[in-house]
Amino acid sequence: MTTKGSIELINKEGLRIDGRKVYELRPIKIRAGFLKNADGSAYIELGHNKIIAAVYGPREAHPRHVIIPDRAVVRCRYHMAPFSVEERKSPGFSRREIELSKVIREALEPSIFVEEFPRTAIDIFVEVLEADGGTRTASITAASVALADAGIPLRDLVASIAVGKANGQIILDLNGLEDQYGDADMPVAMMPGLGQITLLQADGRFTSEEFEKALALAVKAIKKIYRVQKEALKRRYIEISKEVLESEQ
Ligand code: ADP
Repeated sequence: MTTKGSIELINKEGLRIDGRKVYELRPIKIRAGFLKNADGSAYIELGHNKIIAAVYGPREAHPRHVIIPDRAVVRCRYHMAPFSVEERKSPGFSRREIELSKVIREALEPSIFVEEFPRTAIDIFVEVLEADGGTRTASITAASVALADAGIPLRDLVASIAVGKANGQIILDLNGLEDQYGDADMPVAMMPGLGQITLLQADGRFTSEEFEKALALAVKAIKKIYRVQKEALKRRYIEISKEVLESEQ
């Protein structure tokens, strides 16, 4: 049996199993306004991850007992499709999905002006179509774009990525195998414009020096992802403007 840290994840040339350098991000694509029926939506591809985020609200909160008198309640449901992983995943909600729903919500909530929408609900749905490590961070990145696409007032976008350690080296953006067999994994989310971190988890061991290095690496990548998010939203605004112009003709 292969145990954590026991397989060669970085070769002698310093390349990872998918050919990336240690500090290299996987190819990333984001599309805002991917779905017609949601109030806001986004689709993200990060390497082999393919994820859709859909947002509804602010809307009337149901059931009534979830209502918060002075702000909106934010709810999140993260789900992995049965075909999203190699061995079919059971279609229902696992404990992991329930936990990740909470993690994603908590990373996004600080960015939303919830106090502007008392007694309402903002619902975030995340569907992972294909998973290959880092789905929580890619989901946060996509869901933040979906919130903006829904027109929900935000303090800033939230962008997210994981950093970690494999064969004793700090690496950026762990894929599924690195996640499984690496030495450490640290998902980070932040509002780059405000310089505020909204999620920091760590699994494995880092020296304080390694931790500093890993965090700096995550912040740098997050700033890059933030630019990709903003470009996706700009493209969406241009699309909407064209649609409006066409409908007026
Ligand atoms: P994250 O996706 O945020 O890295 P985890 O560390 O829990 O979250 O999962 C790492 C990876 O393990 C996932 O991205 C996915 O590729 C894989 N994985 C998660 N759950 C399952 C499952 N039920 N069956 C097979 N692979 C899974």
